[in-house]
Order: sequence, then C-alpha cells, then structure tokens
Amino acid sequence: MAFDVHLPTVMFLHQTSFIVGALVFVQLRRQSFGTRGLGMLALAFSFLAAAYTFTASSTHSGQIILPDAVRPHISLLCGMLGYALLWAGFIELAGRRRWHQTRLVLVLPLGLALLGVATGFAYDPAMRATAYYSCAILALALAGYRVLRNARIEPLSSRTPLAICMLLGAAFYLVRVVNLLEGTDFLLNIGDVFFLEILCNFGMALLTVTLVNERSQRRLQRLAQTDPLTGVGNRRWFMAQLPKQPAVGAAMVLIDLDHFKQTNDRFGHGMGDEVLMACAQYIQEMLREDDAFARYGGEEFVLYLPEVSASEAMVVVNRLREGVAALVCEDDGVRVPVSASMGVAMVTAIDTSWQTVLHRADQALYAAKSAGRNRVEAYSSPA
Ligand code: GH3
Ligand code: MG
Ligand code: MG
Repeated sequence: MAFDVHLPTVMFLHQTSFIVGALVFVQLRRQSFGTRGLGMLALAFSFLAAAYTFTASSTHSGQIILPDAVRPHISLLCGMLGYALLWAGFIELAGRRRWHQTRLVLVLPLGLALLGVATGFAYDPAMRATAYYSCAILALALAGYRVLRNARIEPLSSRTPLAICMLLGAAFYLVRVVNLLEGTDFLLNIGDVFFLEILCNFGMALLTVTLVNERSQRRLQRLAQTDPLTGVGNRRWFMAQLPKQPAVGAAMVLIDLDHFKQTNDRFGHGMGDEVLMACAQYIQEMLREDDAFARYGGEEFVLYLPEVSASEAMVVVNRLREGVAALVCEDDGVRVPVSASMGVAMVTAIDTSWQTVLHRADQALYAAKSAGRNRVEAYSSPA
C-alpha cells in the first residue's frame, strides 16, 4: 500500500480528521447530557487541527500566514496542548478525575514551548517534530491504558477497539520518531504511517461516540431495572436474573411487610418509605453473591436462593425475618413496629415455569399471614 507522500495533502487530511473529530465531540456533548470530558476532547482536536494548519502554512501556499519567526512556536504549542488535553479529556470521560485534578498536564506543553522559545529548538523541524511526537505518544499511550483499565469497573465492548486505536496511534508516532531520527523507512513507508494515523484519528472519534452511547444505554437499562425508592432491583430485573428453567435445589421466597397500611396511617407515608428502604437494605446486605433479591411491588419483596436445601432455606429466611423485626426505625423517639411474613417454596422436579414456584411461595406467604404474621412458612401441598 506504499504511498508517495504529498505533504500538503497529508497535512490537509490530518487537519480534516481532527476537525471532523472536534465536530463529532461537540455534537456528542450536546446530545449526551452529563457526559464529562467531551468538551475537552473537542478542544483537544481543535488544537490538533490548528497545529496542522499552522504547520501546513509552511508547506503549502494559500494557508494561514503567520510570520516565520512565530509559526513554529505556535504550531508546536497547539500540537502539544492538543495531546495534553486529549489525555485529560479521556481521563474525565472515564469519570475518574476532573479538570482541576488534571490541569497540571499543561505544564509539559507549556514548559516545552517556553524551552522552544528560549533555546530556539522549535526552529529545527526535527527537534520540533520530536517534541510533538513525544507528547502524542505519551498522551495516546496513557489514554489507551486508562480506557482499557476502566473496563474492570465499566465493561463496554467499545473499550478495546478504542484503546487499540490509541495504542496504534502511539505506535505509529513512535515509528515516525524512529524514521525521523534514523532517516530511514523503519518498519513502514512514511506514507503508510500517515495514512494509518489518519485512520486512527477517525477511529478514535467514532469509537468515542460508540462508547458514550453504549454507556448511556447501560445506564438506561439499569434505571429501568432498579426500584427508585429502595435502590434494589425491580421485578423486571429479578425475572431476568433467574435461570431460564427452574432447577431443583433452589428456593423462592416472597416477603411481605406486616400491617404496613397501619404503619403509613400512623406514622405517615414518609416513614413508611423509610421502613421499606431499611428492610430492603438490610436483606440485601445479608445475602450471598448469587442470591437475587428485588422489590416485587408495594411492600412486597422477592428472594431467590440457589443451591440450598429446604432446611437451609428455612434457617436463612428465619434469620432474615428476625433481623427485619429487630430493625430500629424511630419517629420522634417512638419506635415504628416492623416485621415481615415470608413464604418459602422449593423448586420441584415438575416445575416447568417460575410462575408455579412463585405461586406456591405466595400460598406459603398467605399461610404465614393467616398464622399470625412475623413468621416464615414453607409451602406444603394441600394433599
Ligand atoms: P398485611 O400484614 O396483611 O400485609 O397488611 P398490610 O397493611 O401490609 O397490607 P395491605 O396490602 O393492606 O397494605 C399495603 C400497604 O402498603 C398499602 C400501601 O399504601 C402501602 N404501600 C405500598 N407501596 C408503598 C410505598 O412505596 N411506600 C409506602 N409508604 N407505602 C406503600
Ligand atoms: Mg402486600
Ligand atoms: Mg403487607
């Protein structure tokens, strides 16, 4: 694929890729409220576009004219600032740090630019390019690393390709540095390097769009599956956690707060909400990793315990009932009575849907209520 390099065209394409990127980030920022870092990335790509514009003015007539004494300094500063801001933008996008924590990153480009003025190294094209490439390599490598690393806290499928774009971008700049210092075509023809770099610029912008969209999709999905009052999963989430087919050796538990209407009537709806939150939080904290617990609706909760025997399930659920009854909720020093009734149904070999298991748990719950409340009952067949 070796290209003959026509420098003005290469500069123009680089510039284009950065302008497109900046516009993409501006648009993305407008439509995705609350995603931080996008303004910074738009600014970063604008600086990079500017850097190529000022560089181009030396190679191609008709471009922006700057005095020769100033142009190298401006183009170098823009380029280095662009990559520093790109790094800061991706850190912010990751949600880890804010600008006031990353602004120190400006020290490197500003320091190098001042050094360029003081020593005049910026007038030497090779030195200038090396300073710029070094910033680019550092920023792209660190940003790529950050994007990959955050997969542990927020796994998104666009992370890997985005990080690859960045790391390849860093690698291509490294090839450029070696080419420059050695005066040879190391590994790749320089035209190919330019071409691949431009692809990486476009790739970075497009994959950032994908990442931000993927992130908001996940947030919406989580929101749609979370109970807003208690913060635990809702029924939709719960049903999605269950194995497709009920398998023997698991228990289903329905939990219903006792006399909750009275709690509301006596202490107010706000206090009722607090009791609901306290119960949900307590039960959630008591569970194993593989258990699933959700608000089933109103003052009812549902619990799925995999890999338990009937007797183990009764021990666990009785412990939960005791814990709920021991919760201290107070209203102006008056203790609000809290207790729950719980119905337990074990999955049996003839269960083909979760509905039948839930139905039996509901019958057991009804039995617990009838037997006086603040009790756990296991389902026993009427026969
Ligand atoms: P039982 O012991 O038989 O279960 O009696 P109960 O009063 O708990 O049952 P009932 O079904 O009569 O009343 C349930 C109450 O739960 C009525 C409803 O206003 C209240 N409730 C449902 N959702 C919420 C909520 O989100 N917040 C508050 N504060 N109350 C709620
Ligand atoms: Mg109820
Ligand atoms: Mg109730």
